[in-house]
Amino acid sequence: MADQVNTLPFFYGNITREEAEGYLKQAGTGNGMYLLRQSRNYLGGFALSVLHSGRCYHYTIEREPSETYAIAGGKSHRSPVDVIDYHSQETDGLVCLLKKPCNRPKNMQPKVGPFEDLKEKLIREYVKQTWNLQGAALEQAIISQRPQLEKLIATTAHERMPWFHGTIAREESEPRLQNGSRTNGKFLIRQRDLNGSYALCLLHEGQVMHYRIDRDRTGKLSIPDGKKFDTLWQLVEHYSYKPDGLLRVLTEPCPRPDGETGLIGRPLLPRDHPGLTSALSQGPRHNTTDNLNPYETRVPNNQAGGKEAMPMDTEVYESPYADPDELRSSTVDRSQLFLEDGELGSGNFGTVMRGIYKMRKTEKSVAVKILKNDDNNPSVREEMLREANVMQQLDNPYIVRMIGICEAENLMLVMELAELGPLNKFLQKHKQTTIKNITELVHQVSMGMKYLEEHNFVHRDLAARNVLLVTQHYAKISDFGLSKAVAEEQNYYKAKGHGKWPVKWYAPECINYFKFSSKSDVWSFGVLMWEAYSYGQKPYKGMKGNDVMQMIESGMRMDAPMNCPQEIYEMMRTCWTYKADERPGFTIVEPRLRDYYYDIAQ
Ligand code: ATP
Repeated sequence: MADQVNTLPFFYGNITREEAEGYLKQAGTGNGMYLLRQSRNYLGGFALSVLHSGRCYHYTIEREPSETYAIAGGKSHRSPVDVIDYHSQETDGLVCLLKKPCNRPKNMQPKVGPFEDLKEKLIREYVKQTWNLQGAALEQAIISQRPQLEKLIATTAHERMPWFHGTIAREESEPRLQNGSRTNGKFLIRQRDLNGSYALCLLHEGQVMHYRIDRDRTGKLSIPDGKKFDTLWQLVEHYSYKPDGLLRVLTEPCPRPDGETGLIGRPLLPRDHPGLTSALSQGPRHNTTDNLNPYETRVPNNQAGGKEAMPMDTEVYESPYADPDELRSSTVDRSQLFLEDGELGSGNFGTVMRGIYKMRKTEKSVAVKILKNDDNNPSVREEMLREANVMQQLDNPYIVRMIGICEAENLMLVMELAELGPLNKFLQKHKQTTIKNITELVHQVSMGMKYLEEHNFVHRDLAARNVLLVTQHYAKISDFGLSKAVAEEQNYYKAKGHGKWPVKWYAPECINYFKFSSKSDVWSFGVLMWEAYSYGQKPYKGMKGNDVMQMIESGMRMDAPMNCPQEIYEMMRTCWTYKADERPGFTIVEPRLRDYYYDIAQ
């Protein structure tokens, strides 16, 4: 949404109420002239400023938990633009109808807030420090978890500000403000308790004033009877331009006595805030020897609390071999592999069991694909070795990695464990899964597929049954039994003949010309999306493969699943573009899905 709004000519970004009034009054005296700006107190919210009879009126457009937008107490709409469209027809509580947009002066871009500037740097540093990631793993973590990370940073970034002095007593804060310059409006914020209550300490005519900042039940922060804010950041920004009930505006941040200019370099501390504990719930993986890590012992265990873990919190985000102390080898020593009771699944080849693999430094929970002893069928063995060969070449957080091959009583393929199993089955059982959650998972699949496309592999069996879940928020692509490496210049694989194919997932050129490419994987991805948004239903239900082919040839496509967002259905339809040349690749599909995910998740 933010991106779409950014391009509106009447969107001014992070300007103050007074600046908005200036622009409106400059533009004319017309009743109903309006502009849109970013809310300076609600994360992800907007403000609408309207001119009427020479006066300006301001309305906050809040972003609601259901991912809709509304002027407080008013009707909900899908986007801020829809709010404006609605109020061009209906006053419904507004001072007048919205008549004419007040566009930005030529060459003026929407104003970027100070936090926006810092955000990128903070996110990067946070991910680096917390999960000890770098390179591609770092980039992928930021791309897939940006909405969660942004929220985390927005609500903890104050800890890195010079004006934030942590948990100090009132008595301790006073000499800090009295020391050095005694400018009116010099200020600091201290933490009062762990329930999210703070105090703003402000120097006024040589005296220190203390204002309580309380957190209400919805998590919003305010000075008693004052404006409410999502973050301390916004509160400081607001009172820095206007006293709004304080004795004066905030002018100069009081530096911490140790001379630090910020806490950059130190990990952020988790606070008792819903958005925080959930994201940090499993704690960092790599810091097991780092006793200095402040939240190592305090963070509740994710599994027990049932809270939302990020992919980076799990042990399968990076390859076990990313640790240089682990010996990289494609063979697994049978004496270090312990199979457990209970089957994870089965297929033509045999069964998949759960197990433990003891590595040099760690013990890993693994999934072990065990080839049944069938001496009559050497081709199954070859197939499994081919699958292992492909998997061995892939290393991406959104693809099930092979840990190694074990030749013992049976041939065994040892893989990362994706405990929650296939996506289609999970969604069939969990119908309450939100569209946002499904989009997060499907976007991760597109990231894994983009990686395959870039590395010239075609999957050829992409379907919801072959996407396995590590957690409800972490998907990995599996089943490389049909996958092929393709030559870079040719970029497709030509099958020798028709096989036992998942026809309902195949693009026309696969069926008609046996031609497989990343573009045909995109077609399958469209079907996978359809399965996901229909909560694991079977595509083309009740139809035979031949009927499906005829339907596609005649130009027809599956209808949108019930309650599927229009944007998502449009993406499916683009994946089902008949001609492979005109179909987008994953380099186009992934960012499109990413934008949509960010829009609904922010
Ligand atoms: P076939 O090749 O005969 O069609 P298949 O392709 O269905 O079999 P897989 O998908 O590799 O075989 O595995 C079968 C089932 O085993 C999966 O549907 C899943 O439930 C389980 N499984 C496979 N790999 C893993 C894994 N890494 N982690 C957890 N479960 C797994």
